[in-house]
Amino acid sequence: MSQTLHNEIQKEVDKRRTFAIISHPDAGKTTLTEKLLLFGGAIRLAGSVKARKASRHATSDWMEIEKQRGISVTSSVMQFDYNGHRVNILDTPGHQDFSEDTYRTLTAADSAVMLIDVAKGVEAQTIKLFQVCRKRGIPIFTFINKLDREGKNPFELMEELEQVLGIRSVPMNWPIGMGRDLCGVYDRMKNQVELFQGDDHSTIQVRPVDDYNDTVIRDMAGEYLHDQLVQDLELLDVAGDPFDFDKVRSGELTPVFFGSAVNNFGVQTFLENFLQLAPKPGPRNSTEGPVEPTNEKFTGYVFKIQANMNPAHRDRIAFLRICSGRFERGMSVRHVRAGKDIKLSQPQQFLAQDRDIVETAYPGDIIGLFDPGIFRIGDSLSQGGEVVFDELPTFPPEIFAKVTVKNALKHKQYQKGLDQLTEEGTIQIFHSIGNFDETILGVVGHLQFEVFEHRMRAEYGVEIQLHRMTFQAARWIVDENLDPTKFRINSTLVKDKKGNYVALFENEYAMRTAMEKNPTAKFLETQP
Ligand code: GDP
Repeated sequence: MSQTLHNEIQKEVDKRRTFAIISHPDAGKTTLTEKLLLFGGAIRLAGSVKARKASRHATSDWMEIEKQRGISVTSSVMQFDYNGHRVNILDTPGHQDFSEDTYRTLTAADSAVMLIDVAKGVEAQTIKLFQVCRKRGIPIFTFINKLDREGKNPFELMEELEQVLGIRSVPMNWPIGMGRDLCGVYDRMKNQVELFQGDDHSTIQVRPVDDYNDTVIRDMAGEYLHDQLVQDLELLDVAGDPFDFDKVRSGELTPVFFGSAVNNFGVQTFLENFLQLAPKPGPRNSTEGPVEPTNEKFTGYVFKIQANMNPAHRDRIAFLRICSGRFERGMSVRHVRAGKDIKLSQPQQFLAQDRDIVETAYPGDIIGLFDPGIFRIGDSLSQGGEVVFDELPTFPPEIFAKVTVKNALKHKQYQKGLDQLTEEGTIQIFHSIGNFDETILGVVGHLQFEVFEHRMRAEYGVEIQLHRMTFQAARWIVDENLDPTKFRINSTLVKDKKGNYVALFENEYAMRTAMEKNPTAKFLETQP
């Protein structure tokens, strides 16, 4: 291969950090994202990300649901440069528009930032997203937010990380006071204090100190808070986990940072530490073994498909994560599943709210490809080869509804809509087994049903009816001697698109009972 191209790709890969922020709604993800973008100068004004939320509300008449709810059905990727790094933040929809897409986006991230509200601790949505990251073994960095408010004791939060998520943590800094008493944080790695000053907490000073016993801290924070700090840090030194880079990289240990996103306190040091510790894009598994990012041949895979982002055109965008090589606008690549070569002529990149045409991009970057209906989630693209990346996981839906068409004469359009929309990957389709063929839809987030109903009407001219079902969990059943009648008591057995058996349960108890009654069966959370 050409040495110059190799060197160029290597240099670009070394610079890149691609991550997602995982959190429960209201923990401050939008605020943190906005501050991070500000450091990179990617957007002009603070508030732009907020404005993005709000302006979508105003301009998204292409999808009334967005307008009615004032939330985004879309999500995108933001890119900025900082200290020689190129940073890609993958937006993970977190409010009611939580969907399988949110999970799948995490497969395109090389690391995750787990954002936690100091008062609320580890919340439901964080747990789900954390588990997906955990399975992938990617490093997870924790930012404990809203330190300007009274919250849980930092030790209690560490305990919660361990108890609820099963991950050990290593505090990189430690709060000096909290809420109204918050003075700042002590940086354990650099031996410095960051002071949070002024009534409006607007001034931030950084002072090097000898260690946490330094009288500078005592003068500033007062005796009481300093004593507390010394006591806490002595305990941490003795009983806490030491910082271990390998454990961080393998996702066994999470570095914890304390701060306040809205006050921009602790955000910059967090960003700097994160960029240093977070991994650059690594190899990805494929049919041809691991594909190194520095491989000169361009490869990538589609992890998300999004319809109707542009009100003027009814277009679909396929989001592609670049895995290797150099992407160039107009290049021809192999669409492996379709078995044909395609030209990537109108790639788009997303910078805050603007879409730009991309000329070149490198591993770790995400590009949006105009999709006239040729892509499916998980599709691999490769230059001069037939590389196929590992299949993306399917996540078990948690909300179910039976779907019927109101006007039987529209059956053909209904079928077409059903096929196409379920292919986009935010809705799973199941069929009942037995005499009556019932179609059951399963989703991870409730909003997907509304989006589905709306799009069936708007794009296919079909009125549908959804009848909510009481199931709350699904598991793929693998059992050589499966006897469907044995599943009838505690669950309903259905088939997925590929004909795999799936059991639907009303609650945990029903699931456990089914497991006990069917000891030879495997109950899988993802498609076999
Ligand atoms: P998201 O739902 O996770 O995107 O959360 P937002 O960024 O929209 O923040 C939710 C609320 O928390 C907003 O009212 C923010 O102003 C507020 N917030 C965010 N960061 C902080 C913080 O550090 N301290 C305090 N007191 N409030 C914050």
